[in-house]
Amino acid sequence: MTSSQTTQPSETAQPSETTQPLVLPEILTVNELGDLLDVSPVEVIKRLMTHGIMASLNDAISFETASLVAVDLEVEVTSSANASGLVAADIDDHSGDDTDETLEVRPPIITILGHVDHGKTSLLDAIRESDVAEGEFGGITQHIGAYQIEHNSLPMTFLDTPGHAAFTAMRARGAQITDIAVIVVAANDGVMPQTIEAINHVRAAEVPLIIAANKMDLPEADPERVKRELTEHNVVVEDFGGDVLFIPVSATTGDGLPALLDAIMLVAEIEELKANPQRSAIGVVVEAELDQRRGPIATVLVKTGTLRLGDAVVAGHISGKIKALFDDHGEPVTEGGPSRPVRILGLESVPSVGERIEAAEDDRQARQKAEEEKKRLESSGLRTGISLDTLYNEQGTSVVKELLLILKADVEGSAEAIKGAIESFKTSEVKPKFIHVATGGVNDSDVMLAEASGAIILAFNVASEPTALKKADAESVEIRNYTIIYQLLESVEQALQGLYDPIYKNVVDGLAEVRKVFRSSKVGQIAGCYVLEGKLARNARARVLREGTEIIDSECEGLRRFQDDVREVSEGFECGVILKDYNSWEENDKIEFYHQERTN
Ligand code: GDP
Repeated sequence: MTSSQTTQPSETAQPSETTQPLVLPEILTVNELGDLLDVSPVEVIKRLMTHGIMASLNDAISFETASLVAVDLEVEVTSSANASGLVAADIDDHSGDDTDETLEVRPPIITILGHVDHGKTSLLDAIRESDVAEGEFGGITQHIGAYQIEHNSLPMTFLDTPGHAAFTAMRARGAQITDIAVIVVAANDGVMPQTIEAINHVRAAEVPLIIAANKMDLPEADPERVKRELTEHNVVVEDFGGDVLFIPVSATTGDGLPALLDAIMLVAEIEELKANPQRSAIGVVVEAELDQRRGPIATVLVKTGTLRLGDAVVAGHISGKIKALFDDHGEPVTEGGPSRPVRILGLESVPSVGERIEAAEDDRQARQKAEEEKKRLESSGLRTGISLDTLYNEQGTSVVKELLLILKADVEGSAEAIKGAIESFKTSEVKPKFIHVATGGVNDSDVMLAEASGAIILAFNVASEPTALKKADAESVEIRNYTIIYQLLESVEQALQGLYDPIYKNVVDGLAEVRKVFRSSKVGQIAGCYVLEGKLARNARARVLREGTEIIDSECEGLRRFQDDVREVSEGFECGVILKDYNSWEENDKIEFYHQERTN
């Protein structure tokens, strides 16, 4: 039997009386979602199934997946990330209880991106050295992942890991910390493939952009050519009537650096970057290592609040208590406010880069939060990526309005043709949007961009780099490979038009035989069974077969060993089975426990 039927709701969550959306954690189990939505976990599992997602009670699901169920039940939800400022992009600043009175202007956080050898590292070094205060530290530079300088007495923070790989890796982890992106283009070389990648990564992140035309000291520098080439990629600089600031600089001579810093301050002012230094700190780990002598050390960029000596903190599944804080000159400090990079000692182990770190009320709370996160990580089944199939399934819920695509093709001609054809598929419900189109194989950067943006990668006549494949697999990013244009177009068109009917097959997990029928005043009939093959699981679907004919297809509502409710019973054991809406057991009935798997 194939079954793609949707089950009618047996329970409906009551919409909350207030207009406040229900806050859901970023990751939660099916069981927890049921509790929060006030419906049974079975209802949640059924709803997930209608979206093509097979999950069991204790599987962890992402906020995005959970919100599909919430939308079905007409419950408005928001991620705890948004509510508490979990995603760094949203920590900005107007979140939670922060009001106009508590918010204060904070320094901008800047990332430098661009093609290899165009001078990103040189520019970062030159900016750092241009800071007068910096010079007072005797030229000892500590590279800790980020540094802060003052320009005309205004502080600004630079991320010391240039390039879009780091930029998007952070974003993929929900830690978009960059406020302003500076793309460096060597004026003697012009716009290059990684310049275009950088532009697309910055666009996808919706971060304001400044162009620094570097190497202006070279006689062959041609900034006008750079401007023209940028226009071809829809980056229109001010001279050409656009709004992108274009600053000629030389990292070697230092020429143009003050103008670049002025431009950054100008954009920062327009962005009105604010945070509340009074609240408990939330930051992002930008670098972390294990020091033989001092233990785990992490560089944290504080996004909001103030991180203090002695604070109990939690970074993902790691907790700790801050034993020492250092600034970016290696000097001990007692605290770090918004946009300040600080090195901290006292974490129990080394956190991942991009991990959010926050101050807890006390050690106990920090440990508890870390423990909860550990449990969540341990449970499997976390789905992050998006696929053409889930896109189809999500259409009805109006969760997905845009199909974000990355296209990698062998030659530019095919890339353009495919892009043009797909863009014409726009429907009233879904429209395709290309966030990156380039020639060449699928690389790590493409996968990270896809993951961070929820995009699908279309690979036409190109291979994927092995590391990119691994990453895509780990992050559930879909790479679709094609060698024939019309097949590529057909599958995207089908997905967009909703012709992508999911087909499921039943996979049998276990078979039991009814040996005796019991009656219970509370639950009705209980079938006393013996497990002949495989295993039985509570909440699985089950078919009752009598002499080879299906009597009912229902759900297992209860599984008992003696008086105890159990989750699973294995082959060779006896147990009691309760099926939903079924009370007509007969001895010798067979029960087939199964789950459904998508076949297309
Ligand atoms: P990255 O790969 O983008 O980080 O580039 P680097 O900062 O490593 O610079 C690549 C090369 O370009 C190095 O040899 C630098 O010395 C050189 N370079 C960087 N900026 C300038 C500049 O403004 N003028 C000149 N002439 N050379 C530069």
